[in-house]
Amino acid sequence: MYKFDEYKRINILYEYYINNDSEYFSEFIYDLITELAIFNIEKIVEYLASEDPKKKQRALKLAIVDKPYFTIDDIADFIKIENSIKNNFNENGEIQIAKSKLTSREKEIWRCKCGNSNNVDAQRCNCGLDRMGFYEGETTSDTAIDILHGNIDLIQRTLIKK
Ligand SMILES: [Zn+2]
Repeated sequence: MYKFDEYKRINILYEYYINNDSEYFSEFIYDLITELAIFNIEKIVEYLASEDPKKKQRALKLAIVDKPYFTIDDIADFIKIENSIKNNFNENGEIQIAKSKLTSREKEIWRCKCGNSNNVDAQRCNCGLDRMGFYEGETTSDTAIDILHGNIDLIQRTLIKK
């Protein structure tokens, strides 16, 4: 009975968090998920593959929730999540070569989701998005992968005897 309740609880919290229109309410649910150290790899991988960028972004934050404890099996799970992140987050607009009309010199640009062209060196578009499609302050795919690597490293250092 408790097991069933636990599964149901995870599902309800995850669904509320991922599908809510209110940023404020979602943050509130996220705090609760963090507090309860809820981590369900199947659901995280499912949400990471969402078509909706907002849901995908929220799923990244689920991937970095601290588990109550680590086991050796977590390594495989973290690698699975990392691969899923890499598959589902691509560079926002590929690098293109643009020819300046005035000088006819070529320059490299990246085209943002908003339609703007940016210099290849520009970290962020005028609209606020970076090349991966994240706003400043958001959990990025790189940040999430760094945290997963840190977890794997910790498990290898503490749980795997040399
Ligand atoms: Zn833009």
